[in-house]
Amino acid sequence: MKDDKFLWKHDTDDYKEYFSSARTWEQIRCKKEAVNWSDGVWFKQGIPRCTFIVWLAIQNRLPTGDRKRQWGITQGCILCGDRDETRDHLFFACPYFYTIWDRVAGRLIGRRINPDWSDMLRLVCLGAYSLLDQILIRLLFQVIIYHVWRERNLRRHQQGIKGTDQLVCMVNKVVKNRITSLGYKGHHGLEGLMRRWFEVFG
Ligand SMILES: [Zn+2]
Repeated sequence: MKDDKFLWKHDTDDYKEYFSSARTWEQIRCKKEAVNWSDGVWFKQGIPRCTFIVWLAIQNRLPTGDRKRQWGITQGCILCGDRDETRDHLFFACPYFYTIWDRVAGRLIGRRINPDWSDMLRLVCLGAYSLLDQILIRLLFQVIIYHVWRERNLRRHQQGIKGTDQLVCMVNKVVKNRITSLGYKGHHGLEGLMRRWFEVFG
């Protein structure tokens, strides 16, 4: 009778007599899906305060009205009057939001534009556009989400009054300021960012 042998698991159905720390680590670490939205959210030209709100939105951690359902309270959308305020409603499905998104990002995105949060998040993260367009789309995604969320909060405290036209103007100003502050000049590969912005929005 042979002695029992200890074997180290190197992979599924792959056992060896020697120990490999790298292989063992692969077995025990918590294999989480790579966060496929990270490229669309964390990028050099982003604006940190906007990035943070988008990061919360992606995890559905913003205190939207649907969170109050557990206490039997229904909180509608203060921007359009819809009965139920959810993340997916506020961002993209809400006519207030979508009007702004369509006006500002429509020419960059073209026919793929639609009011579905998951679709638009995927589109922003995929990077299927030229580099300049991709930066602008990602910037718009976070700037619009941030400012619509802010307007929603101001309205809840009876301070918000901005219509979609005013929001569009503000988004334009914020994007221009951001591009200016990046200071791309001369032979820099992203030097044409402002020109591209004027082309699609101006
Ligand atoms: Zn709404």
